[in-house]
Amino acid sequence: ERLAVASAPLTPGALADGTLVPLLANLGSADGAEEALAAGAEGVGLFRTEFLFLDATEAPSVETQLREYERMLRAFAGKKVVVRVLDAGADKPLSFLNDEKEENPALGLRGIRALRASEQILTDQLAALALAESAVNDSASPGERVELWVMAPMIADSDDTEYFVSLAREAGIRVAGVMAEVPSSALVADQIFETADFVSIGTNDLTQYTLAADRLLGSVANLQDPWHPAVLRLVGMLGRAGRNAGKPVGVCGEAAADPALAVVLVGLGVTTLSMTPAALADVRAELARHTLAEAQELARAAIAATSAERARTAVLRLSAANA
Ligand code: PEP
Ligand code: MG
Repeated sequence: ERLAVASAPLTPGALADGTLVPLLANLGSADGAEEALAAGAEGVGLFRTEFLFLDATEAPSVETQLREYERMLRAFAGKKVVVRVLDAGADKPLSFLNDEKEENPALGLRGIRALRASEQILTDQLAALALAESAVNDSASPGERVELWVMAPMIADSDDTEYFVSLAREAGIRVAGVMAEVPSSALVADQIFETADFVSIGTNDLTQYTLAADRLLGSVANLQDPWHPAVLRLVGMLGRAGRNAGKPVGVCGEAAADPALAVVLVGLGVTTLSMTPAALADVRAELARHTLAEAQELARAAIAATSAERARTAVLRLSAANA
């Protein structure tokens, strides 16, 4: 049975009217590449690079990073790979980066903020990524070239964006974007798109910060729900800004792995979805059941709801009526 699944032709992610919605994989190391490809991933939408740093007592060398990035990029020859630079701090503490004790680490020196305070770590990582791309592509035929995109976590505004994108370009990275995880990024999305080539929405953190509910705290887990209309309205703002700028807007948080919510995200203007490989089949099947007009209708119902639970119920009911 497993063989039959693996050999079945996997169609690209698309809505019922043929609108393409590339379906990508979230990976935490190159080890998951085979599983992602077998599940029909059209590329990688979030390659988390923390695994190289987390158990280390100092930052890994450019050579060490280059080896790992090259291994991962080779596995996705001919496809797109979005790599996130180091996201340390808060739920991902790093001894050599975060030495000061913070009262509220989620609101502290994490993501791009920590990198700005230790710029050499960022420039080394960008150099290793650019070298890995050259190593893979310089000897590859056009169809086998990997398309490397690089993005930074926890961007607050256009100042963070300009800082990251200029360093990425100096390193020779061709496509540089940012993650929308802090609500301010949605409010000034038009300004961010003046510099960023793309935006990828991290709904896990965007939800935490929009509802001011610690994503690690069980007592407020009911608020950590990306169906909340406040979160969805921010996604809609980012989708609109992306369309106005003619640039892609992805989602790489766990929201993309919920099939009904994935359709709503596309209705809000999201152009690609990235998720754990195990979720790809169900999301692909659900997208194929709706046209873009239907997805937009579901999105309108979701943002008009007064709670996460009501948004979910309204969408599931409408969706069943459309079927
Ligand atoms: C997110 O915040 O949605 C995200 C994708 O990043 P992480 O879960 O690694 O913080
Ligand atoms: Mg995040």
